[in-house]
Amino acid sequence: ERFDREIAEILGLDERREKDSELFKVFSEVFDKTTVETLSYFHRRGKIEQLLGVISTGKEANVFMGTDSKGNKIAVKIYRTYTTEFRRIWEYLAADPRVGYLPKDIRKLVFVWTRREFKNLQRAMKYAVRAPEPIAFRNNILIMEFIGDEVPAPRLKDVEKVLEKRDFEELYEFSMSAIERLWKRGDMVHGDLSEYNILIWEKPVIIDWSQATVKRNRMSLTLLYRDLRNIINYFGRKGVAVDDLEEKFKELTGD
Ligand code: ATP
Ligand code: MN
Repeated sequence: ERFDREIAEILGLDERREKDSELFKVFSEVFDKTTVETLSYFHRRGKIEQLLGVISTGKEANVFMGTDSKGNKIAVKIYRTYTTEFRRIWEYLAADPRVGYLPKDIRKLVFVWTRREFKNLQRAMKYAVRAPEPIAFRNNILIMEFIGDEVPAPRLKDVEKVLEKRDFEELYEFSMSAIERLWKRGDMVHGDLSEYNILIWEKPVIIDWSQATVKRNRMSLTLLYRDLRNIINYFGRKGVAVDDLEEKFKELTGD
């Protein structure tokens, strides 16, 4: 009834009359009542005018391209409220000193996860590490700046075939200085930095901040080591004269 009409509007189904569009399929498979209500909440406030298409379907979230009521493009990351990733999410949240009480309810745990990604994006921006600008979050939905134009920006992995040594060198420089600035100035670590989470646009942008955390987290050294290893190994394979992993790790952690 009311929600159906509203959702049809958000999905642009009136115009397209395509109940079997890919967008509608993804939508109906994974969206429960809370998600629909939250979308509707954002719709009434002009934060989400329409979802235009699916950018990515993942294990824990789907990412959509959309518009707000002013016609600006936005990226909408919608976490699954039932997820097989529950254990991992719980472990990561439990280790984060910023997170207090952990809800027993899986859905509510996902809300905490979503909120934490939003905070991570804010924190990354504060320390001048390029990330999508966070716009709003509520329950399991995160709205952020859309990186791209008509289509989403490609990931580093998608364009590596057409890049030259010089590009890899610059991207290595970018990645390493992001890791260092985050750690030293922001007391923070991304935790899943790789060629899959760097978008190549006018300037490179680091995405997927859900597992990012603070230095005080007992897992932070492990995450820092993992980021350094991923970046050093990847760019090493691309012929860049990379730093030594152990030395870099020592240099940053001071022992
Ligand atoms: P995965 O499990 O595949 O890593 P995820 O669920 O953790 O995915 P993200 O990595 O944050 O989610 O996003 C999935 C994909 O959506 C990205 O690889 C990227 O292509 C696209 N994407 C995410 N955020 C944006 C954005 N702000 N602008 C444009 N595209 C984006
Ligand atoms: Mn990702």
